[in-house]
Amino acid sequence: MADCIFCKIIKGAIPSFKLYESERVFAFLDIQPLSQGHALVIPKHHGVKLTDIPDDQLEELMPVAKKLAKAMGGDNYNILQNNGRLAHQVVDHVHFHVIPKPDQEQGLGISWPAKKADMEKLKEYFNDVKAKI
Ligand code: 5GP
Ligand code: ZN
Repeated sequence: MADCIFCKIIKGAIPSFKLYESERVFAFLDIQPLSQGHALVIPKHHGVKLTDIPDDQLEELMPVAKKLAKAMGGDNYNILQNNGRLAHQVVDHVHFHVIPKPDQEQGLGISWPAKKADMEKLKEYFNDVKAKI
């Protein structure tokens, strides 16, 4: 936590282009943007993954992401939140990306390797995970 780059940004120890701040949330421009306006919305509560953050500290994040998306003004944008190295998380403080998609080249590129589901296996999985919610 002491070494967390985003905790340092929240404290002002590392400068940022701050877009929004409240008691629980901080938002700023990404320093290596995928497109103009690429921003990050983070909880002030330090936690690595979404599942590490208490519910009450998560409540404001989507409304703030929405504010930023509206302010950026484009019709096309992605909200992205990565958890774990395999899932492309580099910074270990929960963050939601707001990424404008102005055209095919700029913004988020996604590989979406969809496969047809085996309905029996899908039902089995459904029953298993539903029981754990
Ligand atoms: P991740 O891959 O963990 O989901 O994304 C981390 C994001 O944080 C990247 O888009 C990266 O450009 C951004 N980032 C990393 N270090 C800094 C920094 O010091 N300042 C800002 N503004 N963004 C950062
Ligand atoms: Zn942190």
